[in-house]
Amino acid sequence: MTDEKKIEIFEEAFQDTGIVGSRRDCVCGNIFYNSNGGWDWEDGELEGLAKNINATDVDYSVGTITFEGKGYCLDCTCWHKRALMIFRFLMSHNSPVVALFRAVKKYELAMVESIEVEI
Ligand SMILES: [Zn+2]
Repeated sequence: MTDEKKIEIFEEAFQDTGIVGSRRDCVCGNIFYNSNGGWDWEDGELEGLAKNINATDVDYSVGTITFEGKGYCLDCTCWHKRALMIFRFLMSHNSPVVALFRAVKKYELAMVESIEVEI
């Protein structure tokens, strides 16, 4: 499997669904914005973005992806290296990862079942 395919799969799994907009600022400092999407802009905002060397105008609403507590723009590539490391870790440790999820689920179910409810 190519790295591009791994990124595509990672993005599909971890992207922030339903969170798109006219402008998103990536944690690395890059900005992606959609100047032609019929969005409302502050006075001078679009002109400022057009002059900003870290800003990229795209033809669609800008999406985000969040993992390890950081928010990234889907269009940015700064998160790809880390995503590939996580992807490779998860794939090379799939049995322990599944065992971990099962143990957490078992613990959570035991916690729920321990709650006494008066009906
Ligand atoms: Zn970035």
